[in-house]
Amino acid sequence: MLKNKKALITGGSRGIGRAIALEMAREGADIAVIYAGNEKAAKEVCQQAQELGVKAYCYQCDVSSEDEVIKTLPLIIKDLGGLDIIVNNAGIVRDALIPMMKEEDFLSVIQTNLVGAYHIIRHTSRHFVKQRSGRMINISSVVGISGNAGQANYAAAKAGLIGLTKSCAKEFASRGITCNAIAPGFIKTEMTDAVGEDKMQAVLCAIPLKRAGEPDDVANMAVFLASEKANYITGAVFAVDGGMSI
Ligand code: NDP
Repeated sequence: MLKNKKALITGGSRGIGRAIALEMAREGADIAVIYAGNEKAAKEVCQQAQELGVKAYCYQCDVSSEDEVIKTLPLIIKDLGGLDIIVNNAGIVRDALIPMMKEEDFLSVIQTNLVGAYHIIRHTSRHFVKQRSGRMINISSVVGISGNAGQANYAAAKAGLIGLTKSCAKEFASRGITCNAIAPGFIKTEMTDAVGEDKMQAVLCAIPLKRAGEPDDVANMAVFLASEKANYITGAVFAVDGGMSI
C-alpha cells in the first residue's frame, strides 16, 4: 500500500511508533525513525525494517527543540530521497493531580506532545506544499476528547493536537496535503506498563471490547491514513480504543 513512499515517524523506537514504523515498512515504505535517547531500540527497528527490504534510518532528535528539528529534517529528506508521510507520535506523560502538578511538568508535556508536532509540521510543510502532496498523521488520545483526572497536561496537549490537525487540514487541503489524527485508547506499551493492577482492571471494565489495544491496532489505522485509500479523508479524528470513548 505504501510502495516507494517515504515516511517519518517520531518516537518510532518503541511502542506505538515502533509498530507504525514497521507496519509502514512492511507495506513498502522507506522509513526514518526519530527517537529521544534510546538508540539501541531505534537501531533495532531500523534493522528489522531493512530486513523487510526497505531503506531505514534513525535520528536522535528532541522534537521539543525547534533547533534540533530544523537540523534533523534536511538530513532525513536527503537520506530518504524525499518525504511523503509524517507521523507525529513522540509523546511523554508526567501525571499528577492539578494541585500537585508542577508547572515544569505541565509545560514539558505540552512542549513535547504538542509543540513537538508543530515543529515537525512547520518544517516539513514547505516541502509538502512544493510537491503538492503529503500525509500528516498526529497521534492524539481519547483523553484529548474526554479529559482525564491526573492528566490535565497530557489531555490539554492531546486536545491541542486535534485543533492543530483540523487547522492544518484546512490550511493545506488546497495543496493536496491531508492531516488526520488518531485517538488511541488504552494501548499496551511501556507508557501504560506503569499502570497498577487495580487501575488496569478499572480501565478494562470501561472498554467495551474488554481488552487493551495492541500497538498494531493503531499502526493499521496509520497505514490506512497514509495510503491512497484515504485520499478523501482530512481533518478527521479516528478513535482506536475498543469502544472506550462511546
Ligand atoms: P512510549 O513511551 O512507549 O514511547 C514513546 C516514544 O516517544 C519513544 O520512541 C521515545 O523515544 C519517543 N519520545 C519521547 N519524547 C521524545 C522527544 N522529546 N523527542 C523525540 N522522541 C521522543 O509511548 P507509546 O508508544 O505508548 O505512545 C506513543 C504515542 O501514542 C504518544 O504520543 C502517546 O501519548 C500516544 N498514546 C498512547 C496511548 C497508550 O495507551 N499507550 C494511548 C493514547 C495515545 P525513546 O525510545 O528514545 O525514549
